[in-house]
Amino acid sequence: MSLIPYGRQNISEEDIRAVVDVLRSDYLTQGPVVPAFEKLVASYCGAAHAVAVNSATSALHIACMALGVGPGDLVWTSPITFVASANCARYCGADVDFVDVDPHTYNMSVERLAEKLELASRAGRLPKVVIPVHLSGQVCEMDAIHALSVKYGFRLIEDASHAIGGRYKGKQVGSCDYSDITVFSFHPVKIITTGEGGMAVTNDAELVKRMARLRSHGITRYPSEMTQPPDGSWYYQQIELGYNYRMTDIHAALGVSQMERLDQFIEERHAIAQRYEKLLENTPVRRPWQHPDSYSGLHLYIVRIEQDAMKGSHREVFERMRAEGVGVNLHYIPVYRQPYYQNMGYRREDFPEAERYYGEAITLPIYPGLTPDQQGEVVRRLLTPSGYQTIF
Ligand SMILES: *Cc1c(COP(=O)(O)O)cnc(C)c1O
Repeated sequence: MSLIPYGRQNISEEDIRAVVDVLRSDYLTQGPVVPAFEKLVASYCGAAHAVAVNSATSALHIACMALGVGPGDLVWTSPITFVASANCARYCGADVDFVDVDPHTYNMSVERLAEKLELASRAGRLPKVVIPVHLSGQVCEMDAIHALSVKYGFRLIEDASHAIGGRYKGKQVGSCDYSDITVFSFHPVKIITTGEGGMAVTNDAELVKRMARLRSHGITRYPSEMTQPPDGSWYYQQIELGYNYRMTDIHAALGVSQMERLDQFIEERHAIAQRYEKLLENTPVRRPWQHPDSYSGLHLYIVRIEQDAMKGSHREVFERMRAEGVGVNLHYIPVYRQPYYQNMGYRREDFPEAERYYGEAITLPIYPGLTPDQQGEVVRRLLTPSGYQTIF
């Protein structure tokens, strides 16, 4: 039996044609397609500006830099995320801390955030930036988190790597109504892909200028930003230390073409989730709960195996499904458990919900093209030794 992966890309003939067209054109990079892709995503999200880069990791890094994160600063994020949400602060020399997750959404808990801010305020060490992560596409309670950012004076980057195409209180994720910058990933397992790629969107004209400069070595061609008048028309200045984080036109062409089907992808993901809901009704498997303010991008479908509810432990169920060809996954190992982070003084007891989550979560396959038969197979494999096989 071949493996059913947890996620995979959807590539059409139009996608292939769009990429080939760039290959036959004059510009493989720094041509017209990257700005076209940026415009398309910004207008889809209802944001004023966008900066395309070679990964969401790069986008998170230059977003932190643009907000002035540096040595001695503090950045907070969720422990239930990919390591990149925390690493971006480390690249800037800042310290990282984590806010425990909500028991229903598995996103950063607003209550824990408020408590932690109050303590940090009294201790005189507030975060400069907080990075809420929209896990599985479900949007964090941005309204409340934004209110806390005003009260305590920190900036906000939404890690929306899972969430393009989703909405919060009726507005597209990426509108940046409640944050300074929102970041998307276009890795092939995500909702739309460019192969590798990412984007930062914002409504702030200064932040976009800074991020665009940091994406390309810290170089400017705007005389207004230079320390002296240009020596000639060839002139440019490197005014700070940036990187080569540029996206190519080849990648952007795939992105432009994928944007055509973004809404369709989201609808299909919702249809798949609804079928799982039905299949898992009246079983001991805990299904994902959706906050009414959020319309999820549904990048992931995460269920929980509560220890005493099922025959077989979480680990046994996971290993058996993998052995039987279902590419289940676990999103994520709490970041503070990673060896790189372990020596920085985090205590597992400070994150009881993240710990409980880590002992129970399993990501089931979800991607456009996953068939009802395959879903039936996934659920059968999930439930087989639990005594619930009779429902099939
Ligand atoms: C995938 C992912 C990233 C990193 O994305 P890349 O484009 O692979 O760099 C960051 N944060 C989260 C939550 C992700 O899932």
